[in-house]
Amino acid sequence: MKALVGTVVDWEGFRENAAVVIDGSVIRDVVPADGIRQYDVDEVYGGKGYLILPGLVNAHTHVAMAKFRGLGEDVPIERWLSDVIWPAELEWTREEIRRWALIGMAEALSNGSTTVNDHYFFADEIAKTASELGIRAFVGQTVMDLVDFPIAEPAEGFRFFKRWEGRDELVTPILAPHATNTVSLELMREIGEFGRERNALVHVHLSQSRSEVREVKQRYGLSPVEYLQRAGVLHENLIGVHGIYLDDSEVSTYAKSGATLVHCSMSMAKLEGRIAPIIELLENGTNIALGNDSPNPVGLMDMFTEMRFAAVLNKAWRKRTDVASARDVFRWATLGGAMALKLKAGLIKPGYLADLVLLNARKPQFLPGENPYSHIVYSARGSDVEMVMVNGEVVYKNGILLKLGKTLEELWEEVRLS
Ligand SMILES: [Zn+2]
Repeated sequence: MKALVGTVVDWEGFRENAAVVIDGSVIRDVVPADGIRQYDVDEVYGGKGYLILPGLVNAHTHVAMAKFRGLGEDVPIERWLSDVIWPAELEWTREEIRRWALIGMAEALSNGSTTVNDHYFFADEIAKTASELGIRAFVGQTVMDLVDFPIAEPAEGFRFFKRWEGRDELVTPILAPHATNTVSLELMREIGEFGRERNALVHVHLSQSRSEVREVKQRYGLSPVEYLQRAGVLHENLIGVHGIYLDDSEVSTYAKSGATLVHCSMSMAKLEGRIAPIIELLENGTNIALGNDSPNPVGLMDMFTEMRFAAVLNKAWRKRTDVASARDVFRWATLGGAMALKLKAGLIKPGYLADLVLLNARKPQFLPGENPYSHIVYSARGSDVEMVMVNGEVVYKNGILLKLGKTLEELWEEVRLS
């Protein structure tokens, strides 16, 4: 058995000088640090001054877009997509996808994300790469039928799902229709039926631009949320992303459905100059998760940065400082993401998955240490992560990706030279 020692922090509370005992892929117990003697522990990590957190969940990302970091800055979202991103995406090869997905996921893992929920093309390559790296991944093949885009062929989304269903402990296939304005109502219905038969998650961009809202209205006379409802996908297996133009009635309908809303505050603030009505969604009972929406536009696969922006941007957006507390935001990045993906994770309790992060907090910014939620959200950086465990296995430690036997610097060198 393995044990992690330090201050154990999850959304429900924190315990100083404690130990998390891991047996196989799950948490066996949480005990006072000296209590590990009662277990047959042969590997101990951490110690005084360390924080132990549930693995962070990046609930919406496109890992391979690491290749586009820094491209198309400071333009409106329509131009960003049509002039920069889509032309670049039509140039992808399988080999390139693997290389960039690997470096994107390695960055995520080393910064404390134990799970990514990815929405992209060439999903087979992303799924294989995740498995090799040892990160937990939910992978969907992006599909659209209202945009002429050969690599987003609808049938491939279903074929990918069938190929990966039940195949790999760390990789879960999901359904990934692109958005409410790029997928026809007919195709969305088909996705809904397929999803219901197989209890699959549906991951979709929702109300992410003014033009999306306008197009859905013109085509069907519906709001994006009404469109999802009409298609039969608005239920608890839906993971909707962005939602920045949701009106009050959509907020209420969405909240009642049990679907999750993934908040990507930095991406939307940068691309569209606004953020989602998160506080209203929360007041109506919606589960909120956090995502970074890829290294382009936000620049980093670091959920600590994402938490900090979510906390600050919600305060600025609502002109209120009593919303989006550090503890709330920490919940969205851990338990909220796990709930969206139906994972028994996101809390540090017996029986929960041993997806854990060890943070070296023996640094000035972690003093005085009385409010760990504040330190995690406002003071920590991904570079404070010393070790990451996924499914009970140590997969990252001190700059080394253990399943690949490579350092982050070696990986950087390989991709730089390719
Ligand atoms: Zn996205």
